[in-house]
Amino acid sequence: MSAVPPDWLTKGLPHIWLPYTQMLTSPPPLPVVATQGSRIKLADGRELVDGVASWWTACHGYNHPHIAGAVTRQLRDMPHVMFGGLAHAPALTLARRLVELLPKPLDRVFFCDSGSVAVEVAMKMAVQFWLNQGAGGRTKFLSFKGGYHGDTFATMAVCDPEEGMHSLFSNVLTKQVIADLPVDEASEWAFDAALDAHAGALAAILVEPLAQGAGGMIFHDPAVLRKLRRAADRHGILLIFDEVFTGFGRTGTMFACEAAGVVPDIIALSKALTGGTMGLAATVATSTVFEAFSSTDPMRALMHGPTFMANPLACAAANASLDLFASEPRLRQVAAIAAALARDLEPCRDFAGVRDVRVQGAIGVVELDQINDMNELKRRFVESGVWVRPFRNIVYLTPAFTIAEAELKRLTDAVVAVLGAWSKAW
Ligand SMILES: *Cc1c(COP(=O)(O)O)cnc(C)c1O
Repeated sequence: MSAVPPDWLTKGLPHIWLPYTQMLTSPPPLPVVATQGSRIKLADGRELVDGVASWWTACHGYNHPHIAGAVTRQLRDMPHVMFGGLAHAPALTLARRLVELLPKPLDRVFFCDSGSVAVEVAMKMAVQFWLNQGAGGRTKFLSFKGGYHGDTFATMAVCDPEEGMHSLFSNVLTKQVIADLPVDEASEWAFDAALDAHAGALAAILVEPLAQGAGGMIFHDPAVLRKLRRAADRHGILLIFDEVFTGFGRTGTMFACEAAGVVPDIIALSKALTGGTMGLAATVATSTVFEAFSSTDPMRALMHGPTFMANPLACAAANASLDLFASEPRLRQVAAIAAALARDLEPCRDFAGVRDVRVQGAIGVVELDQINDMNELKRRFVESGVWVRPFRNIVYLTPAFTIAEAELKRLTDAVVAVLGAWSKAW
C-alpha cells in the first residue's frame, strides 16, 4: 500500500477511460505487473489470489506454458493475415475441433473478436435465416429477465431492461420481447402467452443456458432449456444459446447445453475460448441454419466480416486451450471446485444480510440484500490478499479450474471473513 504508484499509472490515468466506472469517485485501478497461475502481482510487490479469472476467461490459470508456447510459435510464423479469400491452419483446425466437441448438428463456425459481436452475429444469422426464406417479418427476439448478452446496441436490447446496465438507453434500443424464464407454473404461463402473442414476429429465442452471468449469477434447472427447445419447435423459430460465459466447463459440463441434452440452432462462445489469452469468439450454427444461406445469390451470403476475424494468434491460443481440456482433467477439477465452494461458502448463509448462497460448477455466489459501500467492500478483499469483484448485490468466485486447493481456501476464507465483518459492522 505504501509504495509510490508507478509513473505510467499517474501519467496515463488522466487519459484512460475505464469500463463501467465513475472515475471521479472510484479509487484508481490497482497497477498490475505480472500474472502467474492463480496469482496477480501488483507493482508494489503484493500478490493477490485471483477469484475472478479475469472475467471468467483464464480457465487454465494465467501464463500456461502450453498456450504461451503455441502463441509464441504462431507469432514467429504469422501473427495475422486477413480471412477474406485466405485460409490458415489455426482457424480451420479450431473450427473442426470445436465442431467435434459441440453436440450435433452444430457444425458451421463463424469467428469474430468478442462475445458481444458473437451474439450480434448469432442475431444477424437468425434474422437473415428468415429473410433468405422470404420471411422478412421475423426480426424480433425473445430473451429473458436477468440476462446479459453484451454492450453493443443489438445485444443491449436483449439484456434485462432494468437490472441490465443499459436502462439509460431504453429509448434508443430496438424493442424486443423480454420474458421471465419459465421456471414455475406462473412464469411458464406468462412465457407461453408472450410467445403466442409475438411468435409470428420472432426470429429466435435467446438465452444464457443454466447460468445467467453478468445479469446476477442466477442459475436455472436444465428442464427450463428443454421447455425452451419445445416452445421454439412448436412455433418453428430458432433457439440461440449464449454460452459466452458458460462454455468450456464453467458450469460443470464442457458446454451448458449438454447438461440439458438440448441442442440450440446457434451457439455463441467466447470468454474461455483462448484460455484467457486473447480476444476471440465463435458463433456456431447447425447445418440447417447454414443451408438457408447456401444459394447462387451473393446477397444470401452471411453479411458479416470483422477485420481481425480468426486471428491466427488467437486461434493458436484456442487450439492450445483445447489441447489442455483433452490432456488434463478440467471437468473433474470443476467438480472438485464446486464441492469446495459449496462447503466453504456455506457459513455465509447464517450472516445477517445474506440472501442466498449458491453454487453451479466453478461458480460460487453469495447474494446479499444490498451492498452500500461497494468501494469499501472491494478494498477489504484486496486487503485480505484476494481479487474478488462484487457487483450489484453479488459477491462471487469464478476461479481458474487449475487453482490449488490452498488458494481456493484462501478465497473462500476471505469471502467468509470479509462478509462476516460486513454483516456485523456495516
Ligand atoms: C461477457 C458476455 C458477453 C459479452 O462478451 P464481450 O466479450 O464482453 O463482448 C455476452 N454474453 C455473455 C453471456 C457474457 O457473459
